[in-house]
Amino acid sequence: MAQARSIKGTAVAPGLAMGPVHVVRAHPERVPTWSIREDDVDAELERLNRAIAVVSERLEERKRRVAAQAGEKDAEIFAVHRMILEDPIARKNLRSQLRDERINAEVCVQALVERLVETLGGLEGNNVRAYGADVADPWRAVLAELMNRETEDFVSSGEKVVLAAAELTPHVVSLLDRDRVLAIVTETGGRFSHGAVLARSFGYACVVELPNLLSRLEQGLRVIVDGDAGTVQLAPTDADVDAFLERRERRVAWIDELKSDALLPATTTDGTHVEVQVNIESLRDLDTFDLDHTDGVGLLRTEFLYMERSQFPSEEEQYRLYRRAVERMGGRTLTLRTLDIGGDKQLPYFKMPKETNPALGWRGLRVSLEWQDLLNVQLRAALRASAHGNLRILLPMVTSLEEVQRVHQIFQRVRAQLVDQGYEIPSDVPVGVMIEVPSAVMIVDSILEEADFVSVGTNDLVQYLLAADRDNAWVSRLYDPYHPAVMASLARIAERTRAAGKTASVCGEMAGDYATALMLFGMGFQTVSVSPHFVAEVKHAVRQVSTSDLEQLAARARAARNGAEVRAALEGLRARLHDHQSEDDASGVGGDTSGRSAQ
Ligand code: PEP
Ligand code: MG
Repeated sequence: MAQARSIKGTAVAPGLAMGPVHVVRAHPERVPTWSIREDDVDAELERLNRAIAVVSERLEERKRRVAAQAGEKDAEIFAVHRMILEDPIARKNLRSQLRDERINAEVCVQALVERLVETLGGLEGNNVRAYGADVADPWRAVLAELMNRETEDFVSSGEKVVLAAAELTPHVVSLLDRDRVLAIVTETGGRFSHGAVLARSFGYACVVELPNLLSRLEQGLRVIVDGDAGTVQLAPTDADVDAFLERRERRVAWIDELKSDALLPATTTDGTHVEVQVNIESLRDLDTFDLDHTDGVGLLRTEFLYMERSQFPSEEEQYRLYRRAVERMGGRTLTLRTLDIGGDKQLPYFKMPKETNPALGWRGLRVSLEWQDLLNVQLRAALRASAHGNLRILLPMVTSLEEVQRVHQIFQRVRAQLVDQGYEIPSDVPVGVMIEVPSAVMIVDSILEEADFVSVGTNDLVQYLLAADRDNAWVSRLYDPYHPAVMASLARIAERTRAAGKTASVCGEMAGDYATALMLFGMGFQTVSVSPHFVAEVKHAVRQVSTSDLEQLAARARAARNGAEVRAALEGLRARLHDHQSEDDASGVGGDTSGRSAQ
């Protein structure tokens, strides 16, 4: 049966891109392992059979070539290798393991290779041992075929590529230079994972949850990626390419139109002003958008500065970076979040424990409070930089008041030391707290007594409230940013912060969806902090509505009994704002519900 040329996945980062694929493996030394749903067992067996057939075909071709060039005798080995692949016992064992354990084909083939090497390699005599390696060889080729391994040396042409991988991890996203990558497509990965955050920040179109993607790609195959609709089109025809170019042109025109709005303040039709800040991961990000479009940086994820290095950056190095960043801001706010490592954000030079539940483990502020030298150095660098602009400090993964109090003590001590050493440090550098753990929502009143501002990290808050891992495709349906528990938490934070006379923003990814941003403003948040690519859309939307529109939307979200009702309210607003646009325009830029909304 002919395979469909278009694969539907989940849209993670907007944009339209066309180019050759470059297939990579996230862990070159590791055979990826995943479970197969019962319904998918046959398809997985088929994938295995196809890989065997491809290798067998290749061996036949090699046999013909070698026979022509060197003679029949030298070519015989390839015939033997083909027979090894036909071995009925080996094939039966593979099939049973795959069916019984419901595990991917790579793991079964790897186990077979190990069994062959072990059994024959343990026998007496060099020739027999060599035979063992030989028998395993064709199966290794099958494994390589399954993992798209042998063709990985394609990165040479200089053409920009669409990166294809099994998983969407920060490692995969940062594998190639930014100017080499057009888009990223992966078999698994969550919309709210750090890999997704990074892909958005790098400006790549990105689609995840594309089943059996890698088995359908060959290195260099041309594809069209639609990061808005969440589709990947394989080997496009001339007509597909024409349609793509036309859509891309319309998209660019629409974005240009939005950009002119982005210079204007985010003010509703009746004069309520809100702020739209940006999330950045590196200083290079500051060169990718117009600072005049934003009200500052609401989140600088400093861990990515650490991740790019081969050792901990010194105080001096950090100071220079932070100072450059704050000076670039020209008086606008720069919110510097202290190191938030752990889970999928690892430093190559800092060994962290292997944890069963890393999201519930040693991460964020927990690491900084245990390794206080790290925190001291980072705070010293940040405080020194604060003399050169408008810098705020933000603490990740706070779960208790004591943690905030401990940081305050350290902060005061570091500040006093610096002043003693003759540095001029402003006396009022604000320290804020990320609200991204349910306990912090519950104790937000006391946190607000200690914190100068709060910022809600919904990416984490949703996973902890709903016990659904933000990186795990198996529970992605349960990870619902519009669940009533999330709505209640957000409303509570906004309301308590207002009552305390402080400011609250939302810097989780859901705020980048313009309709959701309007809802958050309606709940009482004064600021959202979003990926730079969404600033223009959010501001454009704010400028089209009144304060009462915002409040009504928030009221509907608060009254909803499930996520679907919230989404319906958001769709209603989207339809109102976009009824001047054609369907097609909307799916390409801003009105599409599947691609751009946070679910
Ligand atoms: C969040 O959790 O929403 C957040 C902004 O932080 P990060 O995505 O870096 O965990
Ligand atoms: Mg977080």
